[in-house]
Amino acid sequence: MSIMANQHQAINLSQGFPEFDTPAFLKDKINQAINEGKNQYSPSNGLPELLTQIAEMVHRQYQTDLAVEQKLDGLNNITITSGATEALWVAIQTLVRQNDEVIIFDPAYDSYEPAIELAGGKCRHIALDAPSYTINWALVEQTINAKTRAIIINSPHNPTGSILSQSDLSTLQALVEKYNLYVISDEVYEHMTFDGLRHESVLRYPELFKRAFVVSSFGKTFHCTGWKMGYCAAPNKLTSEFRKIHQYVTFSTFTPAQIAIAQMLKEQSSHVTSLASFYQQKRDVLINALKYSRFTILPSKGTYFLLLDYSAISELNDREFCHWLTKEVGVAAIPLSPFYQAEQRLNYHQNNKVIRLCFAKNDDTLFQAAEILCQL
Ligand code: PMP
Ligand code: GLN
Repeated sequence: MSIMANQHQAINLSQGFPEFDTPAFLKDKINQAINEGKNQYSPSNGLPELLTQIAEMVHRQYQTDLAVEQKLDGLNNITITSGATEALWVAIQTLVRQNDEVIIFDPAYDSYEPAIELAGGKCRHIALDAPSYTINWALVEQTINAKTRAIIINSPHNPTGSILSQSDLSTLQALVEKYNLYVISDEVYEHMTFDGLRHESVLRYPELFKRAFVVSSFGKTFHCTGWKMGYCAAPNKLTSEFRKIHQYVTFSTFTPAQIAIAQMLKEQSSHVTSLASFYQQKRDVLINALKYSRFTILPSKGTYFLLLDYSAISELNDREFCHWLTKEVGVAAIPLSPFYQAEQRLNYHQNNKVIRLCFAKNDDTLFQAAEILCQL
């Protein structure tokens, strides 16, 4: 959709990436590291100073009430990866063997299923209950069988902007203990929850964490998606298995970025804690600007995405609608159907008319896009 947006000079609210630059501090630090010649391989697991800074952040944000021995240990529990994408890939290869089943929730981020299938596994898709996009846990329990190996959760959720609650995490914990399963928790939007809602990280739940890989991305947090920097947090035993595969996928991750991010976390941690209010303001700019449009605006509790229902505007299916919107109207958005299981898409097209907009953009861009969308 970004290619199509560029071809047609459409305002690009499709692919999720910020329009604004990464903080000047981070750019200075990465340049400094490069100029000082810190350009060779880092240790495979990541630079110790970065592992330690991530652990400190996790303690401050999620583990303040935990006993010392329950807290994350950066050196033994965290591995730096080339984006969350590598972390997800490696976590899946670590867990999934021939004929294993993994439960994922549709609409689902697109990188889970191919990684599961390439590992010889099979996805069991469960649709989230729309329009709240919540998990039906009774259905999850019915789907679990002897082949089930893992459940992948993603909160805050791409593409819907929904988030999981404390009760979701408690139910998940009970299920994985009962059926001896693992969890991959994609938390790349962890610092973007709105209206005072708390992000329920798996890292808050020590018992659940014992069976989990928790994945995050600095691209989202520090507006540098092109750096492809992420990490995976997991208990000691799972981390040591994860690292055996990471070693042969990329071996290690871009050294200057690790140095810069470690300094950023140490000296400018307020960037992380202010991200939620920064994005809440963006969300509200877009919602207010669309108030008089004919789209129905769905709730966005986290991420930098907002869903719009266009049933009052067009009969086209969501792919056709997004193509038309990009080529003829001048605003690019993402259709929701590709986030569903292939066999369900036709059926989905007939009943759902929902698109995703990314609001990680300058206010002027959001106003311009909304002005166009209000004319439909
Ligand atoms: N998971 C989700 C839900 C995402 O939205 C993204 C970003 N596209 C990723 C994983 C991948 O993150 P990264 O760019 O750090 O690989
Ligand atoms: N995760 C981003 C999105 O959902 C983009 C990443 C990609 O294009 N693969 O838009």
